[in-house]
Amino acid sequence: MTKPSFTLLAGIGGPVQDGPEPEVVRVPLRGHSTKTIKKKAPVGPGTLVAEHPDPGVGDAHSPILGVVTDVTDTAVIITAGEAKPAKEGEPAPTADPVAPVAVASLGGDELRKALKALGVSTRPFTKAAVLVVNGLNPEPGTGIAEILLGDHQATVEKGLELVQKLVEPPTVLLAVPAGSSATLYGCTVKQVPATYPNSVNPLVVKALTGKETMDGVALVSVMELYAMGRVAETGLPLTEAVLTVGNAAYRVKVGTPIAAVLAQAGVAASPCDRVVVGGPMRGKAVASTDQGVSKDDYALTVVPEAAFPPVTDLPCINCGECVLVCPSRIMPGFVTRYVEFKMYDKAKEFHLESCMECGMCGYVCTARRPLLQYIRLGKKNLDLQASALTSCRLQGE
Ligand code: SF4
Ligand code: SF4
Repeated sequence: MTKPSFTLLAGIGGPVQDGPEPEVVRVPLRGHSTKTIKKKAPVGPGTLVAEHPDPGVGDAHSPILGVVTDVTDTAVIITAGEAKPAKEGEPAPTADPVAPVAVASLGGDELRKALKALGVSTRPFTKAAVLVVNGLNPEPGTGIAEILLGDHQATVEKGLELVQKLVEPPTVLLAVPAGSSATLYGCTVKQVPATYPNSVNPLVVKALTGKETMDGVALVSVMELYAMGRVAETGLPLTEAVLTVGNAAYRVKVGTPIAAVLAQAGVAASPCDRVVVGGPMRGKAVASTDQGVSKDDYALTVVPEAAFPPVTDLPCINCGECVLVCPSRIMPGFVTRYVEFKMYDKAKEFHLESCMECGMCGYVCTARRPLLQYIRLGKKNLDLQASALTSCRLQGE
């Protein structure tokens, strides 16, 4: 089989448009174990709803004025509108207004703490000799990086100023697709062939620095810079995501149901189509379009039922096609068979953890096996094993 090649130039026009005004939002919680809000509480835009125990992970906030209708382990559900008074004639309860924070004037630990409280994750931004800005569209069919660099450069540069304060890099490199004239202040621009999977982070780092590890390198995407730039401009918590949907890009309130975003974009999905958060190569299919958008989502994609033969659990036929396309130089067929039979240590021995999750192996698989899904499952199980081991050790101390 000829190695497949997909362009990373989506040719989608900007600027970013405002998304729908949701009637209900489901603010996703990912390890945000300290809920700071209860059912029936009134909230406003920017009200803190849950904190994350990791100082490098951003807290969660309400994107709208509304009332909390449910709090679960995975989401805070908020219905838009004013809260009702407890008794007739009494004033309606309201949330405390959120005061803006002048993050651009902060530095060091003060800046890290302020960004966390404003919903921004800073964990990847430790001191490094080189800061790489990934300015390529993440996947084929997603045009968001192109639009942000073209139409929202000033906001992206404000985000870059914050990241530079945290990383303090002597060198800042910006990766753009070959032929692009995009620049960012203070960056040395390097062009990368505009074909997938060249936009995957480890490949961008390799192309710009020659390194196959992240030693001495910090990496940030243009989408992350834009998000931080918006926080710098408004001083308010991060409660939005920018997404490519169909032929446009939208600024969407976190927790907005996927169905509402697709409707605004005029993108139809029939019951047998797959709705994917992300792009067609490495996105995750959703079980329900009621699911809320997350801060780090960059695209919604509808994969028509007839676009690809269905994924199966047929056995691997050892054709070797997956090995030929794998940029991590591992053997996806072997690794995923070990995961399938829960032999996670063996999968690790065959370098499961080197996989950069580009999705190329699954795309070419002759047997249509769900290779990327097995790889993610294997990594998850190895993480669980590692945390169980750590907690046993801690209990033994
Ligand atoms: S997703 Fe598949 S092709 Fe891509 S790096 Fe991982 S194993 Fe290799
Ligand atoms: S492409 Fe699919 S069938 Fe072929 S070796 Fe890889 S996993 Fe097996």
